[in-house]
Formats: sequence, structure tokens, C-alpha cells
Amino acid sequence: MNIHEHQAKELLKSYGAPVAAGVAIFSADEAEAAAKSLPGPLYVVKSQIHAGGRGKGKFKELGPDAKGGVRLAKTIDDVVAFSKEMLGNTLVTKQTGDAGKQVNRLYIEDGADIARELYTSLLVDRGTGRVSFVVSTEGGMDIEAVAEHTPEKIITVDIDPTAGVTDADVAKIVSALELDGDAKVDAAKLFPILYKAFTDTDMSLLEVNPLIVMTDGHLRVLDAKVSFDNNAAFRHEELKALRDLSEEDAKEIEASKFDLAYVALDGNIGCMVNGAGLAMSTMDIIKLYGAEPANFLDVGGGASKEKVTAAFKIITADPAVKGILVNIFGGIMRCDVIAEGVIAAVKEVGLEVPLVVRLEGTNVKEGKAILDQSGLNVISADDLDDAAQKIVAAVKSAA
Ligand code: ADP
Ligand code: MG
Repeated sequence: MNIHEHQAKELLKSYGAPVAAGVAIFSADEAEAAAKSLPGPLYVVKSQIHAGGRGKGKFKELGPDAKGGVRLAKTIDDVVAFSKEMLGNTLVTKQTGDAGKQVNRLYIEDGADIARELYTSLLVDRGTGRVSFVVSTEGGMDIEAVAEHTPEKIITVDIDPTAGVTDADVAKIVSALELDGDAKVDAAKLFPILYKAFTDTDMSLLEVNPLIVMTDGHLRVLDAKVSFDNNAAFRHEELKALRDLSEEDAKEIEASKFDLAYVALDGNIGCMVNGAGLAMSTMDIIKLYGAEPANFLDVGGGASKEKVTAAFKIITADPAVKGILVNIFGGIMRCDVIAEGVIAAVKEVGLEVPLVVRLEGTNVKEGKAILDQSGLNVISADDLDDAAQKIVAAVKSAA
């Protein structure tokens, strides 16, 4: 789950991280009061969407010459004018894709006097199996470009989970970021705070870009991007309220209600598979035969008929789907349950695209019999290879 910048900052502030004063608003009527509650004289009006690159982003409705999604305002009148211009419009950034994202809330923040912009993030490093800090003096800009052109400017410090952030770790980070004076003193507090926030709340990513050194020499978290690990959501009731459904794919929201592991993708072959590994190989083999999957979907080990029905409905509701491949290995999952779920779903929503089903394992005979007797136009397949070729061929001949 991703959250907005202002929510991430509030969370980090509760752990003691230095962030600016700011107010989130949902309508331009709130802009003046928000700005008046801040110290001034410099304000920043920041679009709150679940994507980065907002500063350099462009509003679809405002043309190429308009300012971006993060704007400095020198007066309260400017704050109000910018808020009116930005709210309700669509911001396109490097990370949103061409469709962009509608800006439904803004963060009005105290403007900082910036001396240096640095990069800091925390992530789970699968190589070392540890949480790592990734830091660079080249902050504020596109870190992917830094990684590509000057990888030596990115330094990784991984943290021993039994020791936490040690003085030696902080020293490495301080040296990598070339911090001295007050910034160095601040760093000794800030980096352990970031690590604690990350591990306490089960984040999968915390990116502070930029972390700034202000002209007064102190550090401040100027931007914050947080993703939480969904697998740990069950132990974080307190974070549920931070979810913003308007930022999420409607199909993924529906899937999450049924506890389905579902990720929407750009292709046109809908996949219903059990087991993440089988789902991945199904996607791979679809690609191998020259088509693209419309989704990743793992219905899980012991899915009920209701769950299978919900999954099938989510796939068929996607107008991009031109064919469906059901690929089930019945271990704990029974093939007859899958067959019943598919039929229940088709009865409710109809079936207008080719459907290839490959069933194997527990109760496979019963499953196949149920599908045969249903009168549905199911193309049956014997193995993964056969199934992928059949669905790709069916979609191509229908096109
Ligand atoms: P994004 O990464 O989505 O473009 P940021 O929050 O990083 O958004 O803002 C982009 C740039 O705007 C920052 O690199 C910084 O230069 C400037 N900026 C952002 N917030 C403030 C602020 N409170 N005071 C001064 N400048 C800011
Ligand atoms: Mg940023």
C-alpha cells in the first residue's frame, strides 16, 4: 500500500524526524486558512498523488507552459491561485504514464531555504536479506539517471537487524552525504529514526528525495514516499485509514476485498492461476508465444467457489481482456471447485471472449466433466505449453 507525501511526513514526524509545517487541503476554499497557519514568507503548494516527479510534471488541462505539480508561492494570494489551478486537474509525470493522475488534494507546506538536496532511501535488499540505506549526494533529481550515469555516487549501507543502526553505520552515511556541523549532529538522530519507522510499520520502501541541508545547516525531510508491505497489513490496523482508494486500480480494490493476489497489467490475456510461481510461469509462456498477460492473479491454495467466481468476474470486467486462460494445478485446490466457480461467474456476467482451461491434479476428471456438461464454449488444454499456444491463437484469430 502506498500513501501520500503528507501522510508519510506525519508518520515520520511522530517518530521525531524533522519535517516542515504543512496542511493538507481538499478544496481551494481551504487554501487561504492553510497558508495563514504557516510561518511564511515562502509557501509550497504540492500535488498529492501516488507518484513521484511531480515538480517536473505537467497538467494536462493547463498546457505545456503552465507550472508543474510542486510550486513555490511567495504570497498567500499565489497559494490560493495555484490551489484553484491545480485541484481537479490531471498531473502527468514520469511515473504516472500518459493517463496522468487527478489531483484531489494538495499539501500546503512551509517553504525551506535549501543549501543542498540529497537522496536517502530505505529498502529491503533481497541480496543481503537486510534493510539497507541507499544514499547519494545527488538528490532532488531522477535517482534512476544517477544510477545509470554515475553509479559510484550511490552508496548502500546495510543494517544488521540485531544491532540496528550503529554509530559506524551513521558515520558511513554522514561521510557518503558529506555532512558536517549541525547536519552531522542531526544525522545521528535522523537515520536511526528512519530505520525505526521503517521496521515498526513494515514498510517496503521509504524514499526521502530530497533530504535537504538548509541554509541554517540543519537537515529536513523535504519529500517522502512510503510503501507498506501488504503481507504485514494484518498487524497494522492503525495504518488502514491512510489508504486512498481513489489512487488505486478499481480491479485491484475489488480483488483485495476477496483476498486475491491480483496485479493489473497492460496485455489482453486474462489469467486465472493458482500459486504465485505457476502464475509467473503462465505469464512468461504467454509472452513466449507472442502475447501479453492482462493481469497477474493467484487465487491461492484453498480458494472457495466464491473466491474463484469473484476472480473470474474481475478478469471479464476488464475491457482490455480479449481471451482468458485458466491454468490450475489442483493440489490443495480442487479442480471441480475451480470449474464450478468459472461456471457461476459466466452465468452472472456472460462470456464474450475465448476461454482456454487447463486443469491438472486433484479431482481433474470431475472438473473437466463439469465444464463439458456446462454447455460453455471452453477450449480445453492438456499442458501449459498447449494452453498458452491455444489462447494466443484464439485471441489472434478473433482480432
Ligand atoms: P517530486 O519529487 O514529486 O517532484 P518534491 O517534493 O521532491 O516532489 O519537490 C520537488 C522539488 O521542489 C524539490 O526537489 C525541492 O527543490 C522543491 N521543494 C519541495 N518542497 C519544498 C519546500 N517545502 N520548500 C522549498 N522547496 C521545496
Ligand atoms: Mg521528490
